[in-house]
Amino acid sequence: AVIAMYVAKNKSTGIQVYNAALDSSSPETLSMLSELRNAVENNELRVYLQPKLHIASGTVSSAEALVRWQHPVRGLVPPMQFIPFAEQTGYIRQMTLWMFEEVARNMQLLNSAGGPLCVSVNLSTRDLLDQDFPDKLEDLMRKHGVATDSFCLEITESAIMDDPDRAEATLNRLSQRGFKLSIDDFGTGYSSLAYLKRLPVNELKIDKSFVMGMDGDESDSLIVKSTIELAHNLGKTVVAEGVENQVITDKLRALSCDEAQGYHLSRPLPLEQFTAWRLKFSE
Ligand code: C2E
Ligand code: CA
Ligand code: CA
Ligand code: CA
Repeated sequence: AVIAMYVAKNKSTGIQVYNAALDSSSPETLSMLSELRNAVENNELRVYLQPKLHIASGTVSSAEALVRWQHPVRGLVPPMQFIPFAEQTGYIRQMTLWMFEEVARNMQLLNSAGGPLCVSVNLSTRDLLDQDFPDKLEDLMRKHGVATDSFCLEITESAIMDDPDRAEATLNRLSQRGFKLSIDDFGTGYSSLAYLKRLPVNELKIDKSFVMGMDGDESDSLIVKSTIELAHNLGKTVVAEGVENQVITDKLRALSCDEAQGYHLSRPLPLEQFTAWRLKFSE
């Protein structure tokens, strides 16, 4: 048996979802899992940062951290090829903490190039189910002398709906400790508006499938417009991801979207390159 990674269209929504079938008896899977377990110790994981444009002011004061695996043989492995495995084995919890530690360790450098930076980090379902996660994170921030509100935690609707009560408890604790919270891939999951109202969320992030359709599909533009209005009516900021050109940036500005993230501004960059990019951008 081989590792089966496939993209399937969700029957009811028509939206593409990734699935990983993990056959733990296959030698390929076992070797991947043991290599992944050593990736942190072997210093093979990398933090990439992608800037977000604050549309009204034209400045960059936030970025999303995205993990890459610099594998000695496979090369630079994209997250969709190993995150599902890390999630299934629970190893993702170690990886999440590693991400926070890497960013916190470099926060002074990041802030020195163009002013204070707020960094978004992706959480997994496993992190939300771990009762001790908020305390572990707060300890990390204290250790590195970094303010908790320098971080925004991105959570997908499906990660929340996996166990909504436990997710709510964890999110409340994180919010109480000062971390900002964002709902990632908004519009693709099944979260109810009742939860959205209750959760201490600061930001909605519109999924790139809607944003990328804005220059052609009328209904995608309407979904983006409605989401921006919904977010603002609930007192939340809103980010559009997958912004690939100026036309869409202009449309988002006309709709009062707060931030734009995508290849048009910059691809995700290795941490040092990001710092250089931002310094040049803010000149
Ligand atoms: P995501 O959180 O929705 O991240 C956005 C993805 O869109 C990133 O892919 C980014 O490189 C890509 N992207 C950015 N701008 C554009 C654009 O203009 N056009 C297009 N087509 N794509 C764009 P990436 O880095 O391959 O990450 C894929 C997914 O892997 C992420 O989706 C996230 O779910 C997961 N992931 C990445 N890093 C981490 C991590 O550290 N922890 C966890 N738990 N998940 C992560
Ligand atoms: Ca994200
Ligand atoms: Ca996203
Ligand atoms: Ca996504």
